[in-house]
Amino acid sequence: MKLYSTRNMNHIVDLKEAVMRGLPPDNGLYMPLNFPKLPDDFIKNIKNYTFQEISFEVCKTLFGDYIPESDLKEIVYNAIQFPAPVVPLDDEFSVLELFHGPSLAFKDFGARFMAQLMSYFNRGNEKELVILVATSGDTGGAVASGFLDVPGIKVVILYPNGGVSELQECQLTTLGSNISAIRVDGTFDDCQAMVKRAFLDKDLNESVRLTSANSINIARLIPQSFYYFEAYKQLPNDGKKNTFIVPSGNFGNLTAGFFAKLMGLPIDNFVAATNVNDVVPEYIETGEYKPRKSVRTLSNAMDVGNPSNFARLLYLFDPMFSDGDSSTWNIFKENLQGFSVSDTDTEDGVREVSQRFNYCIDPHGAVGYVAGKRIEDDSRKVVFETAHPSKFLSDMERILDSKVEVPQRLLVLKDKKKDFDSMGADSELLRSYLLSKFS
Ligand SMILES: *Cc1c(COP(=O)(O)O)cnc(C)c1O
Repeated sequence: MKLYSTRNMNHIVDLKEAVMRGLPPDNGLYMPLNFPKLPDDFIKNIKNYTFQEISFEVCKTLFGDYIPESDLKEIVYNAIQFPAPVVPLDDEFSVLELFHGPSLAFKDFGARFMAQLMSYFNRGNEKELVILVATSGDTGGAVASGFLDVPGIKVVILYPNGGVSELQECQLTTLGSNISAIRVDGTFDDCQAMVKRAFLDKDLNESVRLTSANSINIARLIPQSFYYFEAYKQLPNDGKKNTFIVPSGNFGNLTAGFFAKLMGLPIDNFVAATNVNDVVPEYIETGEYKPRKSVRTLSNAMDVGNPSNFARLLYLFDPMFSDGDSSTWNIFKENLQGFSVSDTDTEDGVREVSQRFNYCIDPHGAVGYVAGKRIEDDSRKVVFETAHPSKFLSDMERILDSKVEVPQRLLVLKDKKKDFDSMGADSELLRSYLLSKFS
């Protein structure tokens, strides 16, 4: 599998370099040079495959010539360990539940797969690899549990004191093993600045092998294509067209859907559902891309003003893309519909899904549901439920005016002992910490 940088088509790397680097040196994004098609027989017989088998087939097709089959199988089977069930609400609406992983959001798929791939590519290295991340909550939890007990890798997570929820802090600080947490007396921006300084510190990097678990790493996108196949497998063969509705922020989830389509999955329609941070629906409508500061909403994991994967979509639809080219816009519009949903409509959506279907949907999924209602056709609407509603407990209980159940696997964290180091918002302190611990 070869990848290019969106800033320079002639900058070609292999999968290992793309995964271990995260970002190309020119600050573009890595994109696969091509998408090999899965065998027709596989799609035809997909109902006979388990989720793990499907994921393995997709990987084999993408880079089976690059990683030996038995190793690849181990990577995939270790990463894909929880289901992605489709729950029909009625004839028109279904929900694809992507929250059955340890951090209760779909980001678990990407984080776990990236952890397995990094560990594989890191084999044979004497020195351990240290993943350094700053988190405002969700990413840290997914990365921490994704890398838990992965050999050869240590994880250090920085989080702002008072800046994450009680349960999120438990997710970061109770795992132990190869995961360490640092509570920083400062803001998320301070944490991020400290991490950035550490990556730029030449001396430090000579003593400690540091890397990031960046959200735009290609290793986080690839596994997100697996569950499009898994969803397709579960849908009835009744001749109805299927519309996949993806609540979107950085557009990684949706980009992975197009990977699946390019590999031969017959998906009829894609819909991008955003909250009022709607630069992509606006682009689809007007042809103008106007990134701007994000605003806070109920579906806060989608509060993104300049989606990092927008560039990937442009190159995916139009490899000849160049700035200001209106033919790219035309192709974009043909491939993707977009809707923007306000917080008021999101709240109404949460209540409607509860009353109409007796199903508890989180604010992100509700954005998808409301978008689905705006589509005027008779296709089946498959709404991606990207997080478990209990992650947004106080908002959910206010909107529904009733209790929302918290899964046992989250509740047990409350009784576990929290273990973390504390430090001021000072890069020098982080530097000494890393040197004393890992050099
Ligand atoms: C990250 C996230 C999203 C947005 O996904 P993108 O791939 O960034 O578009 C949606 N919902 C939830 C719950 C998330 O955590």
